[in-house]
Amino acid sequence: MRQTFEVAPPELLTAVARSMRNLEAKDGSPMADRVRGLIEGAGETFVHSARPQGVWESISIADFLTIYHGDGGNDRDTPLEVVLEDAVSLALFAVTVGAEVSGRIPQLFDAGEMAEGYILDQVASFAADEMAQIAAGRFGRAEQQGPDQGVLPYSPGYCGWNVSGQRALFARLEPTQIGVTINDSCLMSPIKSVSGVLVLAPIEAHVFSPAFTCCSTCTTLDCQERAAGLRVMPG
Ligand code: SF4
Repeated sequence: MRQTFEVAPPELLTAVARSMRNLEAKDGSPMADRVRGLIEGAGETFVHSARPQGVWESISIADFLTIYHGDGGNDRDTPLEVVLEDAVSLALFAVTVGAEVSGRIPQLFDAGEMAEGYILDQVASFAADEMAQIAAGRFGRAEQQGPDQGVLPYSPGYCGWNVSGQRALFARLEPTQIGVTINDSCLMSPIKSVSGVLVLAPIEAHVFSPAFTCCSTCTTLDCQERAAGLRVMPG
């Protein structure tokens, strides 16, 4: 099964409002009004220039493992391989917030508007990550996900999955349909895009200790927050 989808920019902006609030300066800070204005300006730019789209396509676990081991550059132990042992179904996916808003960010930096560029970069990143979550939700509904199951996205370039895995992923998914491509370094264009695999599995399969090779240099521990989110809102 293959599905493409679009999300209205204002709807996506609303979905990332909580993350955007984390960008605000503390109450009482002399910068509070300035930062709030920057965030509002970035939101307006996003609404006017974003074109959020996504695509996902089901894939068998056997076919995915061929893609996953593609160029052989992965760590010797990775959390995704452990999650896959209990996976119910998978889909390759790519999502983007579009070329125009992605291109606006370097334009702002080039123009010396560093604060504006930084805030728009953050807003677009939140929105691209939210698009991945929306793809996960759509895949879960299509698969009639059970109450004890959850879908999480896993991406090349993270958690021991070498970024070179993008080549095999893109060859199979062909997300040019939504305007997403990779270059020779496996960097995506538009830059504010996310790709990877959506894994439907029992919620507990997504829960693991951060004790893999990749975890020794990790500063985010994102996996723990993602798993906790599934436990709070299963399905
Ligand atoms: S600790 Fe970091 S590198 Fe390790 S699985 Fe979690 S997010 Fe990935």
